[in-house]
Amino acid sequence: MGSIGTPPSAENGSANPNPATAACDQSIDGYRASSNERALESDVSKKRKSSILPLEVGTRVMCRWRDSKYHPVKVIERRRTHCGGPNDYEYYVHYTEFNRRLDEWVKLDQLDLDSVEAVVDEKVEDKVTSLKMTRHQKRKIDETHVEGHEELDAASLREHEEFTKVKNIATIELGRYEIETWYFSPFPPEYNDSLKLYFCEFCLNFMKRKEQLQRHMRKCDLKHPPGDEIYRSGTLSMFEVDGKKNKVYGQNLCYLAKLFLDHKTLYYDVDLFLFYILCECDDRGCHMVGYFSKEKHSEESYNLACILTLPPYQRKGYGKFLIAFSYELSKKEGKVGTPERPLSDLGLLSYRGYWTRVLLDILKKHKGNISIKELSDMTAIKADDILTTLQSLELIQYRKGQHVICADPKVLDRHLKAAGRGGLDVDVSKLIWTPYKDQG
Ligand SMILES: [Zn+2]
Repeated sequence: MGSIGTPPSAENGSANPNPATAACDQSIDGYRASSNERALESDVSKKRKSSILPLEVGTRVMCRWRDSKYHPVKVIERRRTHCGGPNDYEYYVHYTEFNRRLDEWVKLDQLDLDSVEAVVDEKVEDKVTSLKMTRHQKRKIDETHVEGHEELDAASLREHEEFTKVKNIATIELGRYEIETWYFSPFPPEYNDSLKLYFCEFCLNFMKRKEQLQRHMRKCDLKHPPGDEIYRSGTLSMFEVDGKKNKVYGQNLCYLAKLFLDHKTLYYDVDLFLFYILCECDDRGCHMVGYFSKEKHSEESYNLACILTLPPYQRKGYGKFLIAFSYELSKKEGKVGTPERPLSDLGLLSYRGYWTRVLLDILKKHKGNISIKELSDMTAIKADDILTTLQSLELIQYRKGQHVICADPKVLDRHLKAAGRGGLDVDVSKLIWTPYKDQG
């Protein structure tokens, strides 16, 4: 009692080193052997290199990142370098510890070949296991092993892998901004050889050359998204665009959005969707900062399909504004709503923050008992989302055979503080809108 010993975690730490580090250490130890052995070793190493190069897709290896440290990666794709020999390749890698938006092409010298793990044809293996497993089993595995894919089931995971292999367009120009892209987007094949695309910020047509855009801007008569302006407050505007009436715009928006959304399934059938485009307005026009899409008819009570704030406008509260807006529309429809799954990592974070703020604000002001059903009626948030939010905040207790919301004001304040700022408020009095089912 009271004595200071070695914490058990340190002991565990040395007994179970990270397998990736262990692989590295072994090879380093190899080089530390006697000089004879060292010569032999480097011979072996050379032979090994020639036998493993070029690396196969699926190989796991350590890679030097922009922080100059080595991180584990998986090879997603490879391509011959432009001026290299027949065996000179570059590799498109996914850093297994990081989000996919950091996937990139790397040169061979960034890879620590001594750390190459035995090459397994994972594609074949994956297919076999996913066929054998039930959706539930696969989901469980995804939850524990695949970072950022918590809510993907087997089918959407396969589709996701099909669609998001290698980033194709590196940057886009949109209005005043040049923006680095995050993910692959399936542009028509004639755009595949362009690293940069030029977008008209109003009609979202895209072009391969700056001169084409300049010519377009002289002709394009749009100064805001097509469709109806349904909200205006100060310099902020929201436009509702019907995918059926503005098909090309809807498709262009999907191509653009996919560059920044990992999990988005591209909806070629934009007819079925409404797009809500948030703009900052000035004397040059209304400039898109983000959007969300919504199915016209959803049996699963989805009130939002995709949500995106463009990178130059992130961290300004626009994501929270878009989420709040989607619930205001649901309230006007007299329905409860929930976002379509899977959510992106950033989307999930924003939603958790929104639900926490809205629910805890009510609980703080409310006197007496309140049920989840009542909370749902007041907020248009689906009961399941309310329950999981309150459970994750440990505000639900099981007493006398039923779930009870326990709201200690001090605990509420702590959670509210942790949930961060609410962002820009939606001024409901400025929303002039008729639900789709009632529109002519
Ligand atoms: Zn245009």
